[in-house]
Formats: sequence, structure tokens, C-alpha cells
Amino acid sequence: MKLIRITEYLDIELERERWRCNRCGADFGPAREPWKKGALIRERDPREIHFPIGPSKEFNFSFDPKWMRIVEFYCPKCAVMIDNEYLPPGHPLTWDIQLDLDQLKAKHGVTPVRKRRESGPK
Ligand SMILES: [Zn+2]
Repeated sequence: MKLIRITEYLDIELERERWRCNRCGADFGPAREPWKKGALIRERDPREIHFPIGPSKEFNFSFDPKWMRIVEFYCPKCAVMIDNEYLPPGHPLTWDIQLDLDQLKAKHGVTPVRKRRESGPK
């Protein structure tokens, strides 16, 4: 099994084209789709993280929760926080990592499982 490090917490298993947690090996789904689909997602009120400072309700160095949410992504198996992002409420999740898997396989000398089966013993 060939694992390629993509981020601090995410690997790709090249042969099977799967996202993997590099702490516990949890499978996050197909590598040709967003890894976030396989993550545990938590939406947080930004005031829990950026505490309002001062007496003003409007100008307080925090975010208005009507306009901004903090979305955290965790591994569903080991609970490591993989990433977080700031999004307006209702905004779809971003697809932040799209890789050319065919090129990555060629670079690392990985033959797709399908092709190996086709050219294997008969
Ligand atoms: Zn994990």
C-alpha cells in the first residue's frame, strides 16, 4: 500500500485512490471526491473562538454569527482536527484539494488496480 502525504493529517492511498487519515488510517472516501465528505463536521459560533472584546456589540474584534460560521473537520475514528474554515452560514463546503491522480500515480510508479487485473495472469 503506497501512501502519499498530502497535508499534515491527510494521505492518499494511491493504488485504491482513497483519502486516509495519517494518524489512524481511517478511510475518508474516494480521492477523486472531497475528503471532507468522509470527515466529522462541527459548525461553531465564531464568538466561542474569537471572544468579543469591549462594550460595543458591533465593533468588538469578533465575527457576527449571522454572517460567519467556523466549520471544523475531524477524523471520525481518532478525532484529530484536520482542518477548519470560515464560511457564511449556508455556504457549501469548499473543495480545497483536487489532485491529478493519474499524474501522481505516474510519478510514484503506481499502476491502477483495474489495469493490473486486465494485464495479470489468465
Ligand atoms: Zn484518524
